[in-house]
Amino acid sequence: MKRDNRIFCNQCGKELKLEGDIVREGYFPADVTFGYFSNKDGLRHRWDLCEQCYDALIRSFQIPVEETERNEMI
Ligand SMILES: [Zn+2]
Repeated sequence: MKRDNRIFCNQCGKELKLEGDIVREGYFPADVTFGYFSNKDGLRHRWDLCEQCYDALIRSFQIPVEETERNEMI
């Protein structure tokens, strides 16, 4: 969640480390707009998770995430 040029994890409330506009740690920025066939037609949800909360979330999945390695980080 962005507030006053700061970003917070929506799950635990922790403030993420920022340098300028760049987040200097692992995090998960979610931005989804639900379409016509959903029950939230046209609604947009924006939220952020810190890496710890992201890890806890994916550990709760019934089906693991697909994981691959990128050779080049930008
Ligand atoms: Zn968190």
